[in-house]
Amino acid sequence: MKGELLYEGKAKQVFQAENNEDLLVLSYKNDATAFNGKKKASFEGKGKYNNLISGKVFEFLRDRGIRSHYEKGLNDTEQLVRKTSIIPAEVVVRNIAAGSITRRLGIKEKTTFTPPLVELFYKKDELDDPLINDEHALLLTDLNPEELQQIKSMALQINKELQTFFEKINLAIADFKLEFGRDANGDIILSDEISPDTCRLWDLKTGEKMDKDVFREDLGDLITVYDNILQRLGAAI
Ligand code: UDP
Repeated sequence: MKGELLYEGKAKQVFQAENNEDLLVLSYKNDATAFNGKKKASFEGKGKYNNLISGKVFEFLRDRGIRSHYEKGLNDTEQLVRKTSIIPAEVVVRNIAAGSITRRLGIKEKTTFTPPLVELFYKKDELDDPLINDEHALLLTDLNPEELQQIKSMALQINKELQTFFEKINLAIADFKLEFGRDANGDIILSDEISPDTCRLWDLKTGEKMDKDVFREDLGDLITVYDNILQRLGAAI
């Protein structure tokens, strides 16, 4: 199934799919990084959890009419996706304040944003992924103004779907990060992953953090928490 290794990132390896030029195999690694790679560790099983959880999220979004690169799960750690050229902007949606916005703007953690906030970050490791505005995004990517608006409105629509999805398993989604890419036709589709590595998920009853903050803030055992999410999904879907 797998051809040549095309690219290796912090959390995934990307292989050419055999027999189909337009497809890729994403292989999820056990590595965890935080603070733009300054904190690193490896957790046995992490690749499996992110692959399986992200697969379930993308299948749900597909059922809800959101176009993405996701084709299908292949095994515990790998999934088949459509090739896209990644747009170098990370789109963060925030429902509740946490993480960088609390430090950057002095907003208290758990402040609710109504309506949700959409932020753009320039995907550039050397620069630590800085916050950018719309004008910067138009300068730094090949997006035209309509496409930029399209991405932001897709992000808000995905937010509504994800709130419904996670509410079913008793989790609030405080914030998350999306990436978009262009497919072979030039159309913009959702790409990358949506997992507890890329979302902040808080238990609706206890407020317990059930995402990568467990690693970022040394709150407990990451694998126990990710396993709990997958179990809740298994019971709910
Ligand atoms: N996020 C991500 N990749 C990044 C940066 C952020 O997946 O390179 C996610 C992060 O897990 C959180 C949301 O985007 O769910 C907002 O992150 P934030 O800007 O607060 O940065 P952080 O505090 O995580 O450094």
